[in-house]
Amino acid sequence: MSYHKTVLYELIPKVSYKIIRNCPECDCKMKYVNTNCFRVNANGNKIDVWLIYQCEKCKHTYNMSIYERKKLSGIQPEIYKSFLDNDTELALKFGTDKQFFANNRAEIDWSSIEYNLHVIPGGSSEEFDCIEIYNPYKIKIRTDKVVADLLHLTRNKIKMLLKNDVIEFSQNYLGHMTRILIKDITFYQL
Ligand SMILES: [Zn+2]
Repeated sequence: MSYHKTVLYELIPKVSYKIIRNCPECDCKMKYVNTNCFRVNANGNKIDVWLIYQCEKCKHTYNMSIYERKKLSGIQPEIYKSFLDNDTELALKFGTDKQFFANNRAEIDWSSIEYNLHVIPGGSSEEFDCIEIYNPYKIKIRTDKVVADLLHLTRNKIKMLLKNDVIEFSQNYLGHMTRILIKDITFYQL
């Protein structure tokens, strides 16, 4: 059997990632959320910029560093204005940038990721026997969860379809590009 009708999806985060860290007020590990507020500190021509996170429960704040002692001339004026305006689009850009979290040694709460799946035009979205999921943000998420969302099935049903060799994928977690083969299209009618 050849697989030639492919539908390609792109997985895009809907909201900023939460982080997990110890909250000194709650005295335990808590989830911190992006407030979409930047803090800018100017010292001479050196600039510090942070994105402010806060504990979901008690609002204790935690500053995530964007720039430290950066020359003002090294920041594009429109970006600098966006920091001062607390631009939500820019806050989302940082809030979904894995490198930003890695630089701050912040632990992303992958369990609470919210995402959208967009069809990338070009493939067949009617009858297909192969699904490809493009994961440009490298979100760490289980493949069966995303496939269940896509096919509007439960994860248990996906497990059953895998076991019965109706669908096939090799990665437990999404890679940069993940391919799901659908070997028996008739299961849609079940
Ligand atoms: Zn707290």
